[in-house]
Amino acid sequence: MKTYIIEIEGLVQGVGFRPFVYKMATSLGMRGSVANLNRGVRILLNCDNGSLQGFIEKLKLNAPVQSRIDAISIKETEEIVFRGFSIIASTNLSNEVTIVSPDIAVCNDCLQDMESQAHRINYPLINCTNCGPRFSIIRGVPYDRALTTMDSFVMCEKCRKEYDDVDDRRFHAQPVACNKCGPVYSMSLGGQTLHHIDDICIMAASYIDEGGVVAIKGTGGYHLVCNALNEAAVASLRTQKLREGKPFAVMCRNIEIAGGIAHLSDKEREALASWQRPVLILEGRGKIAPQVSNGLSTVGVILPYMPFHYLLFRELKSDIVVFTSANIAEEPVITDDQMALSLEGRVSGATISYNREIYNRTDDSVGRLMAGDITITRRSRGFAPLPVIAGIDVDAVFGAGAELSNCFAIGKGRNVFLSQHIGDLRNVATLDFYKTSVQRLSGMFRFVPSIVARDIHPDYLSSVFADEMAVAQNIPVVMVQHHHAHIASCMAENGIKGEVVGVAMDGVGLGADGTVWGGEIMVADLCRYERMAHFENLAIAGGDSASLEPWRSGLSLLRRHGVPFEEIMKLPVGVRCGPEKVHLYNGLVDKGINTAHYSSAGRLFDAVAAITGLNHESSFHAEAPMRLESAIVPGIKKSYDFDIEEGIISFRRMVLSLASDVMSGKPVGEISAMFHNCVANAIVTAVEYAAGISGIHEAALSGGTFQNKYLTEMVTSELLARKFTVYYHRNIPPNDGGLALGQVIVASALRGAGKGG
Ligand code: ZN
Ligand code: ZN
Ligand code: FE
Repeated sequence: MKTYIIEIEGLVQGVGFRPFVYKMATSLGMRGSVANLNRGVRILLNCDNGSLQGFIEKLKLNAPVQSRIDAISIKETEEIVFRGFSIIASTNLSNEVTIVSPDIAVCNDCLQDMESQAHRINYPLINCTNCGPRFSIIRGVPYDRALTTMDSFVMCEKCRKEYDDVDDRRFHAQPVACNKCGPVYSMSLGGQTLHHIDDICIMAASYIDEGGVVAIKGTGGYHLVCNALNEAAVASLRTQKLREGKPFAVMCRNIEIAGGIAHLSDKEREALASWQRPVLILEGRGKIAPQVSNGLSTVGVILPYMPFHYLLFRELKSDIVVFTSANIAEEPVITDDQMALSLEGRVSGATISYNREIYNRTDDSVGRLMAGDITITRRSRGFAPLPVIAGIDVDAVFGAGAELSNCFAIGKGRNVFLSQHIGDLRNVATLDFYKTSVQRLSGMFRFVPSIVARDIHPDYLSSVFADEMAVAQNIPVVMVQHHHAHIASCMAENGIKGEVVGVAMDGVGLGADGTVWGGEIMVADLCRYERMAHFENLAIAGGDSASLEPWRSGLSLLRRHGVPFEEIMKLPVGVRCGPEKVHLYNGLVDKGINTAHYSSAGRLFDAVAAITGLNHESSFHAEAPMRLESAIVPGIKKSYDFDIEEGIISFRRMVLSLASDVMSGKPVGEISAMFHNCVANAIVTAVEYAAGISGIHEAALSGGTFQNKYLTEMVTSELLARKFTVYYHRNIPPNDGGLALGQVIVASALRGAGKGG
């Protein structure tokens, strides 16, 4: 008999891993122990080599679904004789990497207990070892109740017994609670407060069924909920209350209802019902109020994920409710109970809350099926703060991230921990959330930076923060070009360390030459890049307002390619602007007043959305490209023409034909399809051009434009057909939400090569 030490790294804490190991070992009659370490789990085992291998195989095969094994190391040690198998208390190994579990949707066993377990009948915060809040309530590690926002609730005798019983489903479930001892819900409605959960659900359901809006506290923040089939309710929420253009997500009673309002593939079904429960962007069937998606063909769908959601649907007549985060303008989602109450009367008619603090704010994550699998485009609840395994040493490197759709990142060992979605830092409250979260995650992961990586844009508020951090800590700053960071983030996610042809398509990012880039084909590795090809430059006047006023890009594109004034005035963009504004705008561009040069895919999509009349002014970020994609008539193979000369991709021929197609009344859905085909063909041709020069046949796609399913699928399949290996984002957003990962990777690679820090 020998003694082995088995150490397992990955997401193995807060997901029922130790009880799982205990049960497996005892059922096999094996002796030893299991304990949490900061960086994972350590198992000591008395056995011979043969049964060790069997044990490891079984362990990998049957591990809890929410767990993730990143590495297993096995060592033989001096013989220790165990009498049985036991779970031993946590050891705190100071500075090691710790993995914190994301929040987990309520499990089926708990839903059953909610109906049958005497002390948990209709208990709306029921949870167990396999489910419930995690990251949102964790103040520090190791993951113990005392370091969560459950610390103020004292377990009753029954809960304590379950918590201590290794054979119980709630053994060491830190947030364990029941009707007697746990946090409770309350509802404020027209000046009165309800405390009984049954009353709350009945009142809330009838209020929603009758067309009212209710604010409901979720796992990581408040949501606003109303009947998605009630056009008046949805319209008033959108236009009068929130003044919001962004599509709303809807929560469906179950997967069958979801399948009734949207087309669902097997992959999408699986993702919708997964324990992460993201919002999925699905192709709609036109069954819900058009106001929900604000005219887009897609609909964001989510399934219930908190016990309370199930209790509410039990009383609701509506099968589909609008489920959108409660926030004011660009501010982060509300987590504060008083602030949620202050919405009452203005935005919501009632507020449903519970008395447990949300410590780490999380939004609902968002994903979309593209090129055969789900890509996460907003990474928060269910995903954050899980790390990406970098494959290189990233220790002590901080990535400040972008200014919009911000996430930041911290490097520990070979893990990059990407924060939850933070948002637009130009909003004061969001910037505050950013700063607080940097502090909290640094504390949680015992992170002390030795290098700060940031975008080359000095005015990004994330760059300003990074510079301040560098001065305060007296550490170096590494500046990373925006599109290089995008490509590096895609490479890191896919474990690529060599050279790739990187395709970075997005709205804006400062280029090395001082112009705005965003239609870039680069040959890159983790340390450097070379710009091989790019979209032609477009002079656009108006600074930051360009991104919310597509008409500016439209006029610039027409003017650049010599479309005469009389013709511009026949196009929707000219009609909407009127002759004076067109003259005025052209004058600004001619004189170069407040004018910048863009090689950006985002601006090209904006321009075409404006020229075709699909979007003149945007009411939310990336509305123009979304409307353009949404308009596509499927099955069209024809494409507009483009030219590529010495790496400059010109859309002159496309613009001229497209403008005349618009004037001759060709359906906009066909025009949009031909435009998308043209952009995809241009990208593929440019990648081949870069491959011809460099000899590299591996392509990495990144940047916000690759949230466009049609474009992504076409570029991917065309590149595959040309024998390229194509790397794409799955767990990390292609948009600026993934930028911080790329920054950490580039700065770390430069440090490793002795060129930075
Ligand atoms: Zn459970
Ligand atoms: Zn209890
Ligand atoms: Fe970007």
